[in-house]
Amino acid sequence: MSVTHEVAAILLVEDDAATRHAIATYLGGHAHDVVEAGDAASAMGAWEARRPDLIVLDLGLPDEDGLVVIRHIRREATTPILVLSARDREADKVAALDLGADDYVTKPFGMAELRARIDALLRRAAGPAADASGVVRVGDLSVDFGRRLVAVRERPVHLTPREYEVLKVLVMHAGRLVTHGRLLRAVWGTAYSQEAHYVHVYVSQIRRKLEAADDAGTLSGLIVAEPGVGYRIALL
Ligand code: CA
Repeated sequence: MSVTHEVAAILLVEDDAATRHAIATYLGGHAHDVVEAGDAASAMGAWEARRPDLIVLDLGLPDEDGLVVIRHIRREATTPILVLSARDREADKVAALDLGADDYVTKPFGMAELRARIDALLRRAAGPAADASGVVRVGDLSVDFGRRLVAVRERPVHLTPREYEVLKVLVMHAGRLVTHGRLLRAVWGTAYSQEAHYVHVYVSQIRRKLEAADDAGTLSGLIVAEPGVGYRIALL
């Protein structure tokens, strides 16, 4: 879990030179090794040459859509991708996440916010940490993937098989944003990828059951909704 204290190689893809320079300077000053690219072609070249630990990717690039870069990288690797998206391009952002980007920040953003998102992705790059018996813990929640058991501070939470599957996908991506489409495809299958209301119903059932078991209230902020986009498990 100490990866954030080591130097991470970050590929920064942004065509606006001033923005790119500001981000590179900031991240460089926080012990990251930044490789810069100003268009999709050089981004993919740098990806092949350097295999960075994380990619920060602007979607509006001069030669090709940033989505092309995501598709290219996801064919080969699960390297975390953080998307920089413009406020008026909601559909692009969702498309990027659906293709496998892990999170986004909306322009204009603060450098501290950007860094916090990057650090969270680097922490989670290896997937959620399971203990020796295969149990994953997020705050006071524990999920035993082998035995399909969910508990809050050792108090069992009885989920239906489908509720369990929804929680499992979210926990496996803890700290990352999972779109409604990705959840639907993972739990219900590709034919249901437009039925976002299924996800809302199941998430509210899961929240209710966790709440009932969570007498200390430590898990109230566990499942965070990103309206119109998806859900994420907060790293408590
Ligand atoms: Ca741009």
